[in-house]
Amino acid sequence: MKYYIGIDLGGTNIAAGITDENGKIIAKYSAKTNAGKPFEELVADIAETGKKAVEAAGLKMSDISAVGMGTPSCINPQTNLLVHANNLNWQNVPLYAELKKHFSVPVYIQNDAACAALGEASNGAAADYDNAVMITLGTGVGSGIILNKHIFNGCDDMGAEVGHTKLVHNGQTCTCGQKGCFEAYASATALINQAKAAVEDNPGSIMNEMCGGDLSAMNAKIPFDAAKQGDSTAKSVVEKYIDYLAAGLSSVIALFRPQAVIIGGGISTEGDYLIKPLKQRLYDCTFSAEQIGIPEIVTAKLGNDAGIIGAAMLCKA
Ligand SMILES: [Zn+2]
Repeated sequence: MKYYIGIDLGGTNIAAGITDENGKIIAKYSAKTNAGKPFEELVADIAETGKKAVEAAGLKMSDISAVGMGTPSCINPQTNLLVHANNLNWQNVPLYAELKKHFSVPVYIQNDAACAALGEASNGAAADYDNAVMITLGTGVGSGIILNKHIFNGCDDMGAEVGHTKLVHNGQTCTCGQKGCFEAYASATALINQAKAAVEDNPGSIMNEMCGGDLSAMNAKIPFDAAKQGDSTAKSVVEKYIDYLAAGLSSVIALFRPQAVIIGGGISTEGDYLIKPLKQRLYDCTFSAEQIGIPEIVTAKLGNDAGIIGAAMLCKA
């Protein structure tokens, strides 16, 4: 049996796990990401976290075949430079070369959202399918595209970003600086903004009470909870939000025709309350849905483990 180290590097945590070659997690270890540290020291922390996970699994480094890591950024495979990682203040750093100093086995690095998708496609919600697209509805809209059980990340691996496809021409400004991106309408942040605007227009909505009359306390759960209680303003916010989500996903389906679309992130915990109407909208707005149907729409299963498992499964590629 081969064993891999899978590392999910986030802005606040370094999560490492040891998996077997089937992606089964044997042990985990995590540490805080000290993003203020010099680059070399932070990479040393990352390597140390991986080695601690090896110890936690009762294994030795000589038992490990390879190391995979997901980072919130993109890597240029020509130069092996990490091009950009906003929340780590990294720009054009030699992440691969630095990490390699700590390990004698092969090292693989990929975008973290793509790793999460690979994890779900190998051992989670889309384990039965070869082709799947995952979107993560959180602060932004992360995405991972899996074709034939491998990550598709565009030419030179520079990123295929579903969240930054255009939903509305010259629409709302996105965090990326462009206008009208899917993310600007379908992220949790977007839902919160849509709910706030609705309450401003309809102060009688119970969403107002639910955030204690303070709109800065609005979160992405409130509109769903209020809609379940029959609040008409919340119902229309949720309906409109699902409509945006369906519009963006219909483009993804028309482009890739995946077997499954996996929905992850905080909003996915709404389960059927999100998925059922989303499927209905997708039937209405997707190309050829009447003739060939729509892909399976499933919620992510693995939570934070998806990133670890997907990073480890990079080692199998
Ligand atoms: Zn954007």
